[in-house]
Amino acid sequence: MAVAQSNVVTTCKVLIGGEWVASSATEFGEVYNPSTGEVIAKVPMGGNDDVDRAAKAAHEAFLTWREVPIVERARVMFRFKNLLEARYEEIARLVTREHGKTLTEARASVQRSIEVVEFACGIPSLFNGETLENIARGVDCETVRHPLGVCAGIAPFNFPAMVPLWMYPIAITCGNSFVLKPSEKVPLTSMLIAELLLEAGLPKGVFNIVHGGKDCVNALLTHPLIKAISFVGSTAIAKHVYQTGTAHGKRVQAAGGAKNHIIIMPDADMDQTVHALQASAFGCAGERCMAGSLALPVGDAAEELIPRLVEASSRMKVGPTDGEETPDMGPLISAEHLSRVKGLIEKGEREGAKVALDGRQLKADKGFFLGPTIFDKANPDMSIVKEEIFGPVLSVVRVKTIEDAIAVGDQCPYGNGAVIYTNSGRAAREFKHRFNAGMIGINVGVPASMAWFPFTGWNASFFGDLHIQGKEGIHFYTQQKMIMSRWFAPSQKDKQFSDPIWKGKS
Ligand code: NAD
Repeated sequence: MAVAQSNVVTTCKVLIGGEWVASSATEFGEVYNPSTGEVIAKVPMGGNDDVDRAAKAAHEAFLTWREVPIVERARVMFRFKNLLEARYEEIARLVTREHGKTLTEARASVQRSIEVVEFACGIPSLFNGETLENIARGVDCETVRHPLGVCAGIAPFNFPAMVPLWMYPIAITCGNSFVLKPSEKVPLTSMLIAELLLEAGLPKGVFNIVHGGKDCVNALLTHPLIKAISFVGSTAIAKHVYQTGTAHGKRVQAAGGAKNHIIIMPDADMDQTVHALQASAFGCAGERCMAGSLALPVGDAAEELIPRLVEASSRMKVGPTDGEETPDMGPLISAEHLSRVKGLIEKGEREGAKVALDGRQLKADKGFFLGPTIFDKANPDMSIVKEEIFGPVLSVVRVKTIEDAIAVGDQCPYGNGAVIYTNSGRAAREFKHRFNAGMIGINVGVPASMAWFPFTGWNASFFGDLHIQGKEGIHFYTQQKMIMSRWFAPSQKDKQFSDPIWKGKS
């Protein structure tokens, strides 16, 4: 069995050419259940050898797969979607088990994943080229789309199902083959879903999985058979992936980290805003690239907002997500990440921000838990405002005007998402036009693009040209061919002239 079952610590296999086989790695990492801190699987830290085997198998499969009519490729996705729906609960529970997010959050992430497959089912009607008849006398011009070849996906830990699924349903339906490297912290969900792809009838070798970290990624970035790389992770690694991948002649789309601003105008609906801010900052324990991690109440909005937010957040139930209880928030991914987040909280305190709610007070016997934490009266020079924390920590910078809020955004190196809560159309318009970020929410707490739209991060939140998902995703995974054609009328000498259809023509 490729995927770890309850209470059995198995070693993950790699999927190469449609078979689950042992990695040639000699080092192994550990996969935890973050709710308990227990090791639930071992993951091989593979490198060149695994990547080479996977890339060769993917290349061989590509040569046949690219010739399969696109409607038949889409039919595999229809069957895959049905299987994902049938196994929905099992997948969500595995996401919760290896990642720690609540079951409600895990289910929502599986739903988002299925939507990408739904989008992929419709790719035949988005794949068309363009034609222009008579672009010059007797000359017609057309474009058609071709797949690229072997594409690779490198995923972060925070959405074990959803982020990998942003990539491969689109790549595969476009006629490419794929090598996925899931996060070494959460490899199990991808392995379970791979079984469903095979069951859906995807030919062997079109989808492959390798495991590991830095060495495995570097092998993917430099392998000559790999034509394109999709990456999602932190900014430092995204930049490295973009630079190394493009230096090796590959197409790269690399989504990075984020610091997302939430502006609250004094006229905002405070009931809605408190609820939305809490969900945005503390949903998935803050381990979301679209988490609202920086609140900017304008004018006197803070007077009502902050006490209500602190009170509501202090009532959040934080605990294990893999049992009978249904907490509001689960653990962080690892002990190491928990200690990094606590370190950043201590730094914020040292820099003079006021801790209005201290999640470090939470006591847990086991697992990697931290309660919701709110810093009030932070300023834009503090590390808690500038750096991505990726935990349940919300920093509040009080500003006087919307201009001040926009200026804080202009200083931010990232540019994933930003949100405004207001009842003023004028403020909303000014904000959406001028704020320095690629995904904007107006009274929507987490404006993460859904499958039909590209995930349009800006600045240090994205490196590349064509974003992940939506039509940009199709463009990323295809190259266009332009064909210009002219057909000469047969000359007098031409034997075809005797053909009755040409009689009388010159
Ligand atoms: P990470 O950058 O540590 O890891 C991402 C991937 O890179 C993993 O597969 C990992 O194995 C690999 N990797 C790690 N170190 C490497 C190295 N030195 N060289 C080459 N590869 C390496 O990210 P993470 O901690 O898994 O995920 C959290 C980050 O992902 C956050 O910064 C979050 O904002 C970001 N993220 C961004 C988006 C987005 O759409 N912009 C979405 C989800 C997550």
